Amino acid sequence: MTAEIIDGKAVAAGLREKIAGAVAALQEANSLTPGLAVVLVGDDPASHVYVRNKGIATKKAGMRSIEHRLPADAREEDVVALVRRLNADDAVDGILVQMPLPGQIDAHRVINEIDPDKDVDGLTETNAGRLLLGKKGLEPCTPQGSVILIKPVEKKLSGLNAVVVGRSILVGKPLSLLLLGENCTVTMAHSRTKDLADVCRSADILCAAVGKAELVRGDWVREGAIVIDVGINRVGDRLIGDVEYAAAAQRARAITPVPGGVGPMTIACLLKNTVLAAARRRGLSDPEI
Ligand code: NDP
Repeated sequence: MTAEIIDGKAVAAGLREKIAGAVAALQEANSLTPGLAVVLVGDDPASHVYVRNKGIATKKAGMRSIEHRLPADAREEDVVALVRRLNADDAVDGILVQMPLPGQIDAHRVINEIDPDKDVDGLTETNAGRLLLGKKGLEPCTPQGSVILIKPVEKKLSGLNAVVVGRSILVGKPLSLLLLGENCTVTMAHSRTKDLADVCRSADILCAAVGKAELVRGDWVREGAIVIDVGINRVGDRLIGDVEYAAAAQRARAITPVPGGVGPMTIACLLKNTVLAAARRRGLSDPEI
C-alpha cells in the first residue's frame, strides 16, 4: 500500500479562506473586525519569524494584528501588566504570548494571566479544564489542526484505536482528549511506555508528537493506519518528522509529510480561534468555519 499524502498546506489554505469569509461576514453583519495581539519578549530569531508570519496571516484573513515587543530583560511584572492591559482592551479578541519566554519570567504565570476567553492558544488552565470536562472552550491549535487533517480521510473516528506518542501539555495531552472527544479509544504513550512498537502497531490512528527524528519506525505502523506526524526536527539543513516517513508511507493509508503536514494547520487554527473568540465574547453564535 502506498499512502495518500495528507496535504496540510492545502487544507490550511482552505481553512484560511473560510476564516476570511467568516471575518467578512462578521464585519458586514456586526461591524466587527477581530483583533489578535501577539506579545514577543526578547530576540529569539525563530520567535521573530513565527510572530511575523502570524501577523501576515492575521491581516490576510482580514483581521487586525497587534504586535507588542518587550526587551529580553523585561521583568515578569512588565509582561503580566501588558497582558492585563490587553485583557481589558475591547478591541483585542485574542492574546498570544510567544514562547519561549526569557528565563527570568514564569511562563505558566504569564499564560494564566490571559483572559481564558481571549486565550487563542488554548493553554490557560481554564481552557485545559474545559477540554477535560468536554465543555466549549478554545482548543490548542496544533492538536486541533491534527484532528482536522484526519477528518477528510476518515469521517467517523468513533471506535477507532488512536495512539498518541507524547504527552506534553502543548500537544500530546490535548490531542488525546480531542480524539477521546471523537470517541476514539485512546492510548497515550510516552518515554516510559513499554513495548512502544507494539503499542503503535495497535493504532488505526497513530499520532507522533515527540521531537525525536524518525523515532516511530515504519514497521511500527499498522497496514492501513492513518499517521499524523506532529514532530519537527532540524537535521542538518532538513526538517524531519518523528516518523520514518518513507517506510511508514508504504504501510499507512494516509500520512502527513514534514514539512507541509501539521505545521501549516497551527496558524490556521490560531486564526480560527481568534474569530471564535471575537464572536463568543459578544454573545454571537459560532461562525461556520
Ligand atoms: P515535548 O518535548 O514537550 O514532549 C515530548 C513528549 O515525547 C514527552 O511527553 C515525552 O515523554 C515523549 N518522548 C520523549 N522521548 C520519547 C521516547 N523515546 N519514546 C516515547 N515518547 C517519548 O515536545 P512537544 O510536545 O512540545 O513537541 C513535540 C514535537 O512536536 C516537537 O518536534 C515539536 O517541534 C513539534 N511541534 C510541532 C508543532 C507544529 O506546529 N507542527 C507545534 C508544537 C510542537 P515524557 O513525558 O515521558 O518525557
